[in-house]
Amino acid sequence: MDLGIKGKTAIVCAASKGLGKGCAMALARDGVDVVISARGAEALNATAEEIRKATGVKVTAIACDVTTEEGRKQILAACPSPDILINNAGGPPPGDFKDFSLDDWRKAVEWNMITPIALTKATVYGMMDRGFGRIINITSQSVKAPIASLELSNGARAGLTGAVAVMARRAVKRNVTINALLPGPFDTDRLRGSTKKMAELQGVSVEDAMNQRKTAVPAGRFGTTEEFGAAAAFLCSAHAGYITGQNLLLDGGIYPGTM
Ligand code: NAP
Repeated sequence: MDLGIKGKTAIVCAASKGLGKGCAMALARDGVDVVISARGAEALNATAEEIRKATGVKVTAIACDVTTEEGRKQILAACPSPDILINNAGGPPPGDFKDFSLDDWRKAVEWNMITPIALTKATVYGMMDRGFGRIINITSQSVKAPIASLELSNGARAGLTGAVAVMARRAVKRNVTINALLPGPFDTDRLRGSTKKMAELQGVSVEDAMNQRKTAVPAGRFGTTEEFGAAAAFLCSAHAGYITGQNLLLDGGIYPGTM
C-alpha cells in the first residue's frame, strides 16, 4: 500500500533504538526524510546510517536530550517545519508511591507530558497552515489500565492524553491529526532491562522471567519494533486523516476490556 507520504519530513524523537527506531525505519521505507534524536551519539549515528543504507532517504541525526529545552531547540533548528512528529522519550523509573519525591513527579511530567506538549505546540500550527500534519505520542498501555509499579508513568502519560485531546479535534479540520500509540510489551532494550531486574527480584532466571511475561500476553509473545513502526506509519499516512484524538493499544490483547 502506498502511504502517500513520500518526500515528507518527520521528526522522530528518541529513535536510536526500540520503538522510536521502528517508527523512523518504517517512515523512511515509505520515502519520508527523517530527523532522529537520542542522547547517545554512537548508537544514534549507527541507526542513522542503517536507515540511510536501507532506504536511501535523507536522515539527520541530532544527539541531544529531548526532555530539555536546549535539546528541543536543536531538533527544531534542524527541522523547523516537519510534516510528521513522533513524540517519544525514555519512561520514568518504576517504584512505589510512598517512595517517590515531588521531584520524581516533576521529572516524569517533564519527560512524558511537557516535552511532547512543547514539540506539539512548536509544530502543530505550521502543519495546520500547510494543510497536512501527523503527530503521534508514544505513551503506554498504562493510560488505559494503570500498571502497579509504574505510577509515575501512569500519571504523566494520562496527563498528556488529556492535554492534547481538544487540540486533536481542532487540528483535524486542517488535515492535522494527533493520536497516541499505547504499547504493551515490545521486545526492546527497555523491556529486556526491566525483565532482568524482575528476575533478580524474584530470584528466577532471566529466561524464566521472559517466559512469564510472554505467557501473560494473549498473543503469547512480545510485539516487534517493526510491527510498531508499521502501525505508526499507517497513522502518519495520507489515508489516516479521519483518525484523530485516538489512543490505540498495541498490546497483543492484554487489555481485558471489550472496548
Ligand atoms: P528503548 O529500547 O530503551 O529505547 C529508548 C530510546 O529512547 C533510545 O534510543 C534512547 O537513546 C532514547 N532516549 C531515552 N531517553 C531520551 C531522552 N531523554 N532524550 C532523547 N532520547 C532519549 O525503549 P523503548 O522500549 O523503545 O521505549 C520507548 C518509550 O515507550 C518509553 O517511554 C517506554 O517507557 C515506552 N513503553 C515501552 C514499552 C515496551 O514494552 N518497550 C511498553 C510501554 C511503554 P539514549 O538512551 O541514547 O538517549
